[in-house]
Amino acid sequence: METLFTTDKTRKLIPIIKAFIETNLYPLEKPETLNGNFSAIEPTLKKLREKVKEMDLWGLALPESLGGKGLTLCEFGQISEILASSPFGHFVFNSQAPDIGNTELLHKHANKELNKTYLDPLSKGEIRSCFSMTEPAYAGSNPTRMGTTAVKDGDDYVINGHKWFTSSADGAAFAIVMAVTNPDAAPHKRASQILVPLDTPGYEFVRNIPIMGHTGDSWASHAEVKYHNVRVPQSNLIGNEGEGFLLAQERLGPGRIHHCMRFIGIAERSFDLMCRYAVNREIKDGVTLADQQSIQNFIAESRVEIDACRLMVLSTATKIDKEGSKAARAEISGIKFFTANMMLRVIDRAIQTHGALGMTNDIILSYWYAHERASRIYDGADEVHKVSLAKQILKPYRNA
Ligand SMILES: Cc1cc2nc3c(=O)[nH]c(=O)nc-3n(C[C@H](O)[C@H](O)[C@H](O)COP(=O)(O)OP(=O)(O)OC[C@H]3O[C@@H](n4cnc5c(N)ncnc54)[C@H](O)[C@@H]3O)c2cc1C
Repeated sequence: METLFTTDKTRKLIPIIKAFIETNLYPLEKPETLNGNFSAIEPTLKKLREKVKEMDLWGLALPESLGGKGLTLCEFGQISEILASSPFGHFVFNSQAPDIGNTELLHKHANKELNKTYLDPLSKGEIRSCFSMTEPAYAGSNPTRMGTTAVKDGDDYVINGHKWFTSSADGAAFAIVMAVTNPDAAPHKRASQILVPLDTPGYEFVRNIPIMGHTGDSWASHAEVKYHNVRVPQSNLIGNEGEGFLLAQERLGPGRIHHCMRFIGIAERSFDLMCRYAVNREIKDGVTLADQQSIQNFIAESRVEIDACRLMVLSTATKIDKEGSKAARAEISGIKFFTANMMLRVIDRAIQTHGALGMTNDIILSYWYAHERASRIYDGADEVHKVSLAKQILKPYRNA
């Protein structure tokens, strides 16, 4: 589909990627796969990753220096939408969170040694990583309040803390841990990001947290972890001391574009399933669901809502490409809650249209309904983004 944002690169790449996903990944959407653990399907996905490398489609979000295609954020966003039409798309193309964000972070802010040891194998897909910020004892919506500390001792940092929702920690080679290094500094300058190899003594993997009835494992999991006197060299610091939140903000700008385009991909696929079902499901002789006005409302409303979100998100991505994340702060907050809610509404309408079938794991809708509810919470809860957007809108009024 040509849009205002289509470029030569997306025109060339999207049809190839779409065909790959429809041929290789849609057939994997079986009840046992969607209900089962990620590790059960991982060997199959790893073979497909090799195929992606052979097709020269590896690491589409990576910069050229790391073997990527040098896509802009807006170009990758359009590809991210296609990858999201399957729950395995981003993983097979090595563009999955949290690795994609960690790759970018290390590339821009880690020293040569860390990049050689960790970034190199991460960008080749040989290892995985996680990002460990949120804590059960503190409100994640205000992460300047944090219990985890990293105290200097000789040439090392000694880290102590309790984190949860460290997504994909199960089987990861390292975590990027947010810890307080400068307790006396201003709240936004207290914490730093430190790379912790997960085989370091003192690291405790507590559990994968059950989410909506599913515990998950490997990449598709969310762990509770503890750091007991975990000792790492001070050279494992990423960026400068006290820059933890600054780096987190930098990471979250592009990260939210990736998430939002993923939400649009899921909404688009749910919409497609809804339309296909509506024209085929007869409710009486010669009359289908698609002939009913309430279902037509679902379809018309979903179409414009998806299209509106896509325009907003790609326009925000273009602003980030041209002016950086800081300049697009208001837009980033707006797209995050608007697109997540749009996706959940479209999945819900698609389930409703499918009736009982929509509740089963025979089709993918119930999987997305359960797993994507979190989209209104992670990377900033809806309410927090609304507060932030409203504050920015009201600022000139207050100053007038
Ligand atoms: C599936 C999933 C994956 C995640 N992955 C990661 C990860 O990889 N790494 C990581 O570090 N964290 C991760 N998180 C954690 C996530 O970032 C936090 O859940 C989020 O920041 C919210 O923090 P909290 O859960 O402590 O909620 P709280 O901060 O306690 O907030 C609870 C609720 O209060 C409301 N609220 C909060 N602040 C305000 C306000 N100012 N005004 C009005 N209402 C407000 C919101 O409705 C919010 O949902 C993940 C979470 C989920 C669900």
